[in-house]
Amino acid sequence: MTSNDLSRLCIHTMTNKPWSLDQCLSNYERVGITGISVWRNVIENQDLSAVKRRVSDAGISIVSLVRGGFFTGVDQPSRDKAIEENKLILEEAAEIGAPLVVLVCGATPGVSILDNINHIKDGIEALVETAEKLNVKLGIEPLHPMYADTRSAISSMESANDVAESIGSSMVGVTIDVFHLWWEKKLENQIKRCAENNNLFSYHICDWKTDMEDMLNDRGLMGDGIINVDQISKWVDDTGFKGYQEVEIFSKKYWEMDQGEFLDLIISRYKQLKIK
Ligand code: ZN
Repeated sequence: MTSNDLSRLCIHTMTNKPWSLDQCLSNYERVGITGISVWRNVIENQDLSAVKRRVSDAGISIVSLVRGGFFTGVDQPSRDKAIEENKLILEEAAEIGAPLVVLVCGATPGVSILDNINHIKDGIEALVETAEKLNVKLGIEPLHPMYADTRSAISSMESANDVAESIGSSMVGVTIDVFHLWWEKKLENQIKRCAENNNLFSYHICDWKTDMEDMLNDRGLMGDGIINVDQISKWVDDTGFKGYQEVEIFSKKYWEMDQGEFLDLIISRYKQLKIK
């Protein structure tokens, strides 16, 4: 194996949640990982231009800032507040040099799916001008339908494509995550459709465990579960996508491990993938 095997590997800071940003950077640099997606918690109260410099000094590129969104709400003032918050997130992204903000779009219990989706669309549209000005893109990440009550009313690639296409801005596209989408019957076609509309912005990998104990914090590492990651990666790459494959895992079990050993395990499982 050469270090080149890792040239498309990106890790989300949340995957190594016990580590600070600096611990992530020094360990990723040590093993030859060149991509990082930064969660907002690790840059809270930090000098963002210094963050940008430290990442670049480690020879690492920021793939995205995670996460914005949560555009829904029972009334207009709460939805307006979300838009203002997302403008700040776009500014944070620009300051650390992140080209993309990943959006978990939100869902308000008691509001219909269609109304939630309309509120999401309105929220994203209100950000396009700021996104253009800052040159930071917005990636709508469809979530698995089990989160449609409180986290995202965008629950499939089809739904994410519909919203991205209806907004019709080069700044707005889709973030694909195998955990959320593996089940979708026409996933291959929806991935093609996404790319044909220039909306395929980024790609997250992990696994779905059939004995999942917690719907938020028991994701599997590639190989732990039932997702054919290579198949989905092939569909993604067949569109011409050459971006990073981002390992994003929330797992109490893996967070309890020594994070250096967990990182070794991530790399060994990543190297077992065929499409990388
Ligand atoms: Zn994701």
